[in-house]
Order: sequence, then C-alpha cells, then structure tokens
Amino acid sequence: MIAAACSAPTCLRTLREHELDAGMYLCTPCVTRLHGWLASIPRLMVLLEASRGRETTGQPSVTGTRTAPLPGREDVLNLLGPAAPGSVLDVHGDQCGDPPLLDTLGGWVRLALDESDQPAPHAWTPQRLAHWLAARTAWISAQPWSGELHDEVHGMMRVIWGITAHQPRRRPITQPCPRCDTLALSRVDGEAYTSCSACDALFSAAELAIGAAASLARTAA
Ligand SMILES: [Zn+2]
Ligand SMILES: [Zn+2]
Repeated sequence: MIAAACSAPTCLRTLREHELDAGMYLCTPCVTRLHGWLASIPRLMVLLEASRGRETTGQPSVTGTRTAPLPGREDVLNLLGPAAPGSVLDVHGDQCGDPPLLDTLGGWVRLALDESDQPAPHAWTPQRLAHWLAARTAWISAQPWSGELHDEVHGMMRVIWGITAHQPRRRPITQPCPRCDTLALSRVDGEAYTSCSACDALFSAAELAIGAAASLARTAA
C-alpha cells in the first residue's frame, strides 16, 4: 500500500486506509478541526463586531491632529471589510493587512460552486459562507485542494483569535484511552472529539462515557 500524506501543508499525518478508500485528501483530525473553526465563526463574528471600535494603543487621542482618526481598529475593519469584487488573488500585493473574511471564505465557496452543482449560499456574509462550507467539510475533504483550504482557514482563524483573544486551548482529559489505555487523551476547546496522542484515535463524548464505564468495571473486578 502506498502511504499518502494528509494534504494540509502543516499536517504531518499519513492518511489511513479507510481515509484513502473514502477518497480523502485531508486526514480525519484536520477535517474535524476545519469543521470546528468554520462552525465557530458566527460566534466569533459577534466578538469581532464588538472589538471594531476598541482602541489598541490606549493612547489618548490628541486634539487638533491633521490626520483624521480612523473610525475604529484598522485591523478589524480590514478583516470585516468587503472583499474586492471578483478578485480572490492579490496579484499586485498592494492590499495591506490580512484579507477580509469574505475574500478568504468567498474564494473557496466560489471554487466549490465551480466544481460542483451545489446550491449557492443564501447570502454572501462571513457567517453564511462559513456555515455553507462547514456543512460540506466531508465533500471538501475529498477535493485535492482541501489541504490548502484547511491551512488558509487556519491562518484566518489565527488572525481572528489574535483580535478576539479567544484562542482554543488543548486540555488534557484525565481518563485512560478506551482503545490503548494510555493516559494521553486531550481535547481542544470547542471541538467535538477527544483525541489520543498515543494511538491517534478520536472519540465522541458518548464513546468516552462508554469507555469510562468499561474501565471502571475493569478496576472494580
Ligand atoms: Zn491532516
Ligand atoms: Zn489511545
């Protein structure tokens, strides 16, 4: 069997046999993470909107300056700003700062629409586009460009987390892995699955509860 790497440039995993059989280019942990990021966007948009007018420097505004003050934080306004119509790539490199959310998400939605006959999103807003992509992560994982999408969305999330100061953290779970019995389980805030760093298994909350009951029964016996 030929080993194929997960197509996300930042991921070092090798695709498992069932993933290859399913035509996946993106490994299951990457698909799970991608879904979690996209699903968190509506909630983070509320925080982004709230930090729109927040001052970063804390410096009092000087009266009588010649340059008019910006109506809000430039990085946030830039991120929330409308995407340049029709353009996805910044060929001339003249765009300053990070690309607006609509640019990043919209570019991938456009590509997905070009390559399939799926219905278009109802509205062209970051929330709608993120929801549209989140609902299609399984289909996305079977596209050769899914790795690039994964890393680009991750880059976008890091910018959002930097502004909202909401960075999901990985927390240890004090329960032995139901599969390999190692104390190596952890879960990232907001993600649906708990992963084992020893055997790479992923567990839902229900599977973990069953695992805990089984290990309790073993110790009691
Ligand atoms: Zn991966
Ligand atoms: Zn394990």
